[in-house]
Amino acid sequence: MKLTRLKSIKTAIKQVKCLRCGHKWFPKKPGFKAKTCPSCHSPYWDLPIKRKSTSIASKKNSTKFENSKAPTMQELVLKSIKKGNHLRKEIQKDLNVPVWNIDGAITKLRRNRIITVSGIGRYYEKK
Ligand SMILES: [Zn+2]
Repeated sequence: MKLTRLKSIKTAIKQVKCLRCGHKWFPKKPGFKAKTCPSCHSPYWDLPIKRKSTSIASKKNSTKFENSKAPTMQELVLKSIKKGNHLRKEIQKDLNVPVWNIDGAITKLRRNRIITVSGIGRYYEKK
């Protein structure tokens, strides 16, 4: 019954979480504070990140896409729509990419409620 004993000890120790990378672990002893995160090795793992980009607030800004420096297909399609290309054909002509790339991006943009489609297949940015 070694396993169950180990489990009960683990639950007695409060699990801690790295605020940088989200890694969760159990300290060696109760009240023991790790110097660095075992996963990302950040010494500031218990301090919340102040940058806005990882906060929930930025999710409201639907036109901003996180974790990408190069524009994504979604961004390019949205840009094209904003420029006045509302038909899939127009967007494709504007971006000069295969139509399935556009379809994929449109599906994602619609799912994220960034764009909306009118009855005659015209895409608009959702306000
Ligand atoms: Zn970490």
